[in-house]
Amino acid sequence: MSAQDLNDAVMTTRLDAVVNWARKNSLWPMPFGTACCAIEFMSVMASKYDLSRFGAEAMRFSPRQSDMMLVLGTVTNKMAPVLRTIYAQMAEPKWVISVGVCASSGGMYRTYATLQGIDRVVPVDVYVPGCPPRPESMIYGVMKLQEKIEKESLSMRKDHIRRFYESLDRQRGIERDQKLTEQQAVRSMVLDAADHNLATIY
Ligand code: SF4
Repeated sequence: MSAQDLNDAVMTTRLDAVVNWARKNSLWPMPFGTACCAIEFMSVMASKYDLSRFGAEAMRFSPRQSDMMLVLGTVTNKMAPVLRTIYAQMAEPKWVISVGVCASSGGMYRTYATLQGIDRVVPVDVYVPGCPPRPESMIYGVMKLQEKIEKESLSMRKDHIRRFYESLDRQRGIERDQKLTEQQAVRSMVLDAADHNLATIY
């Protein structure tokens, strides 16, 4: 067979491009729903808005079977370590969408009990504004994540997740050495980061 004949049978591409194409079209969502944004998300999955049009219909309530976490609602400081554990248990590579002002910044709950943005404790890929965001906004958020996945390199994603695991090791060390609960350890890491003008603990 000549090289001329092969032209019709072979397609060349980059490994990153083909892997990312598969990843962005087969996202498995896991809702971390704590408040009203989760109710709004139900309509995103239902027939009218139908997230399955974007290849993300396989919703799972087990972190080990999902790779796209949607945080839907207020997250308290007490819930912060739970959020981190669930993120750690998700299949890799994994992504996070912060849905609504409560998840993204604490929203109107400017109190000592509320985490002022989940990106302090887990890496967030896309923020969806609104209170609650409309289903169209959530779908737009998923589309933005797909664009991001399309452009990222495989090694970049690995580094991103490695930094999170290192912070989880640090958290376990603080719990063990200072005899703190996981809530206390995460809280002390958040406060310590703020003292050093850092926005996150990973
Ligand atoms: S952003 Fe608004 S709708 Fe969403 S959880 Fe907060 S208060 Fe509820």
